[in-house]
Amino acid sequence: MHTESTSTDLTRRGLLGGLTVGAGALAVGGLTASATRAEAATLQGDLPARVDVVVVGGGLSGLVAARRVAAAGRSVLVLEARDRVGGRVLNHTLRSGAVIESGGAFVGPTQDHLLRLARELGVRTFKEYAVGDNVYVSGDRRTRYQGTVPPDPLLLPDAAQLITRINEMSKDVPVDAPWAAPRAAEWDAMTFHDWVSHTSVNPDVRNLLLSYLQPTFGSDGRDMSLLFLLWYIAASGNETHPGTFERSSDTSGGAQDSRFVGGSGLIPQRLARRLGDVVALDAAVRRIEQRTDRVLVTSDRGTVRADRVVVAVPPATALAVDWFPLLPPKRLQLLQRMPMGQLMKADAVYETPFWRADGLTGMGVSDHGAVRVCFDNSPADASVGVLLAFVGGSTWERYGGLSLADRRAAVLEGFAEVVGPRALRPVEYVEHDWTHERWTMGGPVAVLGTGTTTSFGRWIRQPFRRVHWAGTETSTYWSGYMDGAVRAGDRAAREVLERL
Ligand SMILES: Cc1cc2nc3c(=O)[nH]c(=O)nc-3n(C[C@H](O)[C@H](O)[C@H](O)COP(=O)(O)OP(=O)(O)OC[C@H]3O[C@@H](n4cnc5c(N)ncnc54)[C@H](O)[C@@H]3O)c2cc1C
Repeated sequence: MHTESTSTDLTRRGLLGGLTVGAGALAVGGLTASATRAEAATLQGDLPARVDVVVVGGGLSGLVAARRVAAAGRSVLVLEARDRVGGRVLNHTLRSGAVIESGGAFVGPTQDHLLRLARELGVRTFKEYAVGDNVYVSGDRRTRYQGTVPPDPLLLPDAAQLITRINEMSKDVPVDAPWAAPRAAEWDAMTFHDWVSHTSVNPDVRNLLLSYLQPTFGSDGRDMSLLFLLWYIAASGNETHPGTFERSSDTSGGAQDSRFVGGSGLIPQRLARRLGDVVALDAAVRRIEQRTDRVLVTSDRGTVRADRVVVAVPPATALAVDWFPLLPPKRLQLLQRMPMGQLMKADAVYETPFWRADGLTGMGVSDHGAVRVCFDNSPADASVGVLLAFVGGSTWERYGGLSLADRRAAVLEGFAEVVGPRALRPVEYVEHDWTHERWTMGGPVAVLGTGTTTSFGRWIRQPFRRVHWAGTETSTYWSGYMDGAVRAGDRAAREVLERL
């Protein structure tokens, strides 16, 4: 009865039809993935021949870097491959007109750089709905609970002990130099999965952990080294509040504490609007050539000469640039060992957030199926009810390749197990698979396997002659998150300004 929309289809349509994603979105009746192009007064016509700083990538990190460079009175140009700004931050307008996010959405305490930026841009936050009980689904058992860990008596002691150990061990990992942790070599030689297998008595704990790992990394424990996981936890804080597992995983008081009124997409949109005609869209950078006294950056819209360059793109797309001279071998090895996770968001829309009347938060954790974790993703005014599932890692491997109809059925079944059978009848269903995105190549973040951090990690922020590195993956706090992107953009801009 209802026409379903998928951003995946829109992306494919765009690529195959020679249309951009935005144009593809508009072509199917206003199910627009983003209105960013219209909102931002971007650079039309020819690129300038020369600027002080070229920023490659108009995601949060690149835009923040450009803003700081411009504020220092230096000329700057942002070259963005897509026809929109924001990268992994992308608003999606539902049929009702309500806005949800296809990418980064949640924000929490200690993500102060992002919160400050949002305040400055007039983007308000609201608390993620957390009144009532969460639901834990194990087999055909459904249990209501409150707090971080589902109350499975068989799992709880093990899970609690694991979390305590993770918190303790992560204290030994310096956020700016995880390779220098006293036990770095040992922790980087094993996967997180292997460590959990050795540490916990109950093998089902590994399965439970997927509900945290898959939305957070788009990956399973087998894909990341223990050291990487511990560093990520250590980085889930700020200079005065050490990172903890709880802050990384929790709703209230954690990384899922709040969302942005009108969608996080407003932040890059407003940043770009303020930057104005120094942002060039449809300008994929293809080649970066460093000469002794300058850098030549060649994009789909022409070549620009710069004194310095900030590269603020996901590692996988940085590798696709034609580098001259070639990147230093260790940087090259690092980038080749930074694959993106696999993640899609699936949202079902209802006339109301009906689960709230049943005393449910809408947050659920399951040990099976397409919905390993879900959240109430309704807009601030609850004008519609929205349930959000993260389909990541091995769950994405299983469900990502199904037909839309089969995956939709599996997702709705998962929602129904959490909030009841009314979830089977949404008025709209939307999904966005980031593995289909040419300029991101997965999501939400790059994930480092065994050996990478200790062998090549120290190259992460090392400038390459006149080229400096931004992007959330280079942040020391909240790497992988929007806050990390903002921090990294500011840091890279400071580096560049010191050298101009
Ligand atoms: C599904 C999903 C859910 C997420 N949930 C959250 C969340 O709830 N909270 C949170 O804080 N974070 C979340 N994140 C992560 C967050 O969105 C990212 O950490 C952040 O947006 C990264 O910003 P960035 O600027 O570093 O990179 P990006 O956003 O990836 O920006 C890079 C930009 O570079 C452009 N680009 C790439 N290659 C080139 C090239 N060759 N030339 C020119 N331009 C190029 C891209 O088009 C893009 O615009 C999520 C991400 C995803 C995908």
